[in-house]
Amino acid sequence: MAFIQTPPELGNQYTSDRALRELLVHALPPDVLREIEAALSTMGERAGGELYRMQLADRGNEPMLTQWDAWGNRIDRIEVSPLWRVAERIAAEEGLVATAYARKHGAYSRLHQFALAYLFMPSTDLYGCPLAMTDGAACVLLGSGNEKLIKRAVPRLTTRDPSEFWTSGQWMTEASGGSDVGLSATVARHDGETWRLTGRKWFASATASRMALTLARPEGNPAGGKGLALFYVETRDASGMPNRILVNRLKDKLGTRKVPTAELELDGTPAELVMGLGDGIRNIAPLLNITRTWNSVCAAAFMRRGLALARDYARRRIAFGAPLASKPLHIDTLAGIEAEFQGALQLAFFVAELLGRSEAGRASGEQAGLLRLLVPIAKLTTGKQAVAVLSEVIEAFGGAGYVEDTGLPLLLRDAHVLPIWEGTTNVLSLDLLGALTAAGGIQVLQREARLLLQGVREASLLRISALIERTLEAAAVWLEQAQHAGEAESEAGARRFALTVGRSFELALLARHAQWSSDNQRGSHALAAARRFSAIPINLITSIDRNDSMALLAD
Ligand SMILES: Cc1cc2nc3c(=O)[nH]c(=O)nc-3n(C[C@H](O)[C@H](O)[C@H](O)COP(=O)(O)OP(=O)(O)OC[C@H]3O[C@@H](n4cnc5c(N)ncnc54)[C@H](O)[C@@H]3O)c2cc1C
Repeated sequence: MAFIQTPPELGNQYTSDRALRELLVHALPPDVLREIEAALSTMGERAGGELYRMQLADRGNEPMLTQWDAWGNRIDRIEVSPLWRVAERIAAEEGLVATAYARKHGAYSRLHQFALAYLFMPSTDLYGCPLAMTDGAACVLLGSGNEKLIKRAVPRLTTRDPSEFWTSGQWMTEASGGSDVGLSATVARHDGETWRLTGRKWFASATASRMALTLARPEGNPAGGKGLALFYVETRDASGMPNRILVNRLKDKLGTRKVPTAELELDGTPAELVMGLGDGIRNIAPLLNITRTWNSVCAAAFMRRGLALARDYARRRIAFGAPLASKPLHIDTLAGIEAEFQGALQLAFFVAELLGRSEAGRASGEQAGLLRLLVPIAKLTTGKQAVAVLSEVIEAFGGAGYVEDTGLPLLLRDAHVLPIWEGTTNVLSLDLLGALTAAGGIQVLQREARLLLQGVREASLLRISALIERTLEAAAVWLEQAQHAGEAESEAGARRFALTVGRSFELALLARHAQWSSDNQRGSHALAAARRFSAIPINLITSIDRNDSMALLAD
């Protein structure tokens, strides 16, 4: 009989995730954890069971755009895949957005919500994308003071009733620029009754959503970002037809193929001004804080999924007379990416915790400033880690990792979007430099790192603590010197700087957690994660001559 390899399996994705469970025990009061644990376990069971099976079966399905009906009417209807339809229902019922707004657990509600989302996302092919934007839209509307829109949309965005639930898109990117949104050419005209938008949105992911927040330039406004205003659009009119929105085509993408990312033509689309006749980029910024946090949690969740499969497979796959799980080099390889995952998990959930505290009015002024800095740091650091970790996961399966119907290549392709959308690594690194200047310098981050590490006593953790202190000091020195040398110098090194800060924070959180774990006799797992993470250099700042870079790229 020919040899048949048993495939990897997933168990309950909550109960088998030691890193997440320990993190929650550490971060949540026991009564809160007790109250939410059954729901997390149910989600974990679904994610490793029915949803995972459905995801594998749904692999070949993609969203379908029908532009015309049989009689020649332009209908531009998008049908999402069966998995996405199920995902939408579960997302509403389980309160993947609602939990953050019901605030049943006050400052801990974001941790609750993101723990659910973390379990849900890897089995639902990026359904987290519309959920992130829905969450962001609810946050922006609530902060806008626009009572009419708050009444109209927020109850739909935050309901647990699937028949009432709306998701929201966020249409910012135009062909002229996704990073440099100030170049946007969409025009808003007031026709006496309503605003009408005309222009093209080049990457609109939640096209099947019922509403969107978007940017357009009211006629007569100046060029650039400040001249853009924030608008609310409903995608369908009262009869269910497109609201003067043409879906020109769906993008043919490397990954995220379940996400119906479209090129849209706004053809006099009726819209409501959310707030202010300008400053749209500033006004939509709270949405980006939320979607970037989802992105970081999604990055950690994808890494965890890859590792869960790779670790299970290593126990099943025999090579050279023994399971891969017993081979020192395979153990070393998986342990390296497990530490990366755990660092990302800590940072993503630390940001979620800060967000929850800030929304519940429990954050100090310094913590609110810290959140503004840590959101881009976490997004850019975890996005890069996800791609690297998932690439290693694919290799850990050998040839099987490269074969589509194992469902594995999907993980890498989907993860590849995480460093791109919601701000690329470079753009967020530059954003961080700007935010640091506004915050008065890197000292706020250095202070927070010290606070995180103040309880550390174990000998190896003290060494790690000193390493972090040195690294952040080196980052501070670099920043000062680069800023002194001029804008080009600090821009050129911004990515190395930002990743250095991101890795330092991940290590600081791992060390804090390891001390807590050891104090509470919870085994050596967390200590091992901190030590392993610290074995790879966290200081990525090097002195690179910009003239060399230019010479290298010269024709
Ligand atoms: C699958 C997918 C779904 C998406 N969905 C949405 C959506 O729903 N809504 C939406 O609004 N957008 C969406 N986007 C768009 C996404 O946000 C943009 O693609 C992204 O912000 C980058 O913008 P860009 O494509 O214009 O690239 P550019 O801005 O042209 O960037 C190209 C490269 O230049 C770098 N770069 C840019 N500026 C600088 C600088 N000053 N210094 C150094 N490097 C720089 C970038 O890092 C990048 O590597 C989606 C994208 C993808 C891939």
